[in-house]
Amino acid sequence: MSTISEFVCEDCGTLLVHSNPTTLESMRDVHNQLCPVKRQKLISAGLASTVKETKQILASPQSQAANTAPTPVQSPELVAGQPATPAGGVTTISLTGTGTSYSKIEGPIDQSFKSKRQIVGQFQGINLWGPIDPPGQLGIWGTEVCVDFDICVADGACIEACPVNVYEWLDTPGHPTSDKKPFMIREKDCIFCMACENVCPPLCVKIFTK
Ligand code: SF4
Ligand code: SF4
Repeated sequence: MSTISEFVCEDCGTLLVHSNPTTLESMRDVHNQLCPVKRQKLISAGLASTVKETKQILASPQSQAANTAPTPVQSPELVAGQPATPAGGVTTISLTGTGTSYSKIEGPIDQSFKSKRQIVGQFQGINLWGPIDPPGQLGIWGTEVCVDFDICVADGACIEACPVNVYEWLDTPGHPTSDKKPFMIREKDCIFCMACENVCPPLCVKIFTK
């Protein structure tokens, strides 16, 4: 295993630094999968290749008789069975991957995580704060209604407590702490009553009032 301590993406210039080489390698792998510039290059290369192939097909006598359709371009996400990157460059996070070497993490959530972590993508419009390495490391989810998925034990207290039904269960198979998490899909409906934060046994919920 290499002993790199920092990594600079050759495509987007992002600098990743971590004292633990194993963690840094995981961060690098995740970044390489999610880098929007790298993805755009792949898609552009695929499109260029497809246009070239299509011209060759149309120019051949056989194609005029066979009426052959060009091969559709598939992004890495589509190949993996996941939705494509939404317009605007926001990265859609997959819950599957190779991150299986993780142990359970005790609470509480880091109250100042927003100054220490970065948003690495979204899942159905909800921000994710890295590092992540699915399925074993999922990071912290949410912007105002935030849950550290790596701490959550899925007892459901927050879902039961919420008066406006912000959360719904999200299956997270392969995570060492619990195989489902309270997904704040209706985060915009939050009325900041703090009920979920107050009832969470491992203290992994943090509400940021507007
Ligand atoms: S603060 Fe209140 S309204 Fe907002 S998610 Fe938690 S329980 Fe629901
Ligand atoms: S109350 Fe806390 S531990 Fe229980 S499901 Fe909600 S976030 Fe997870």
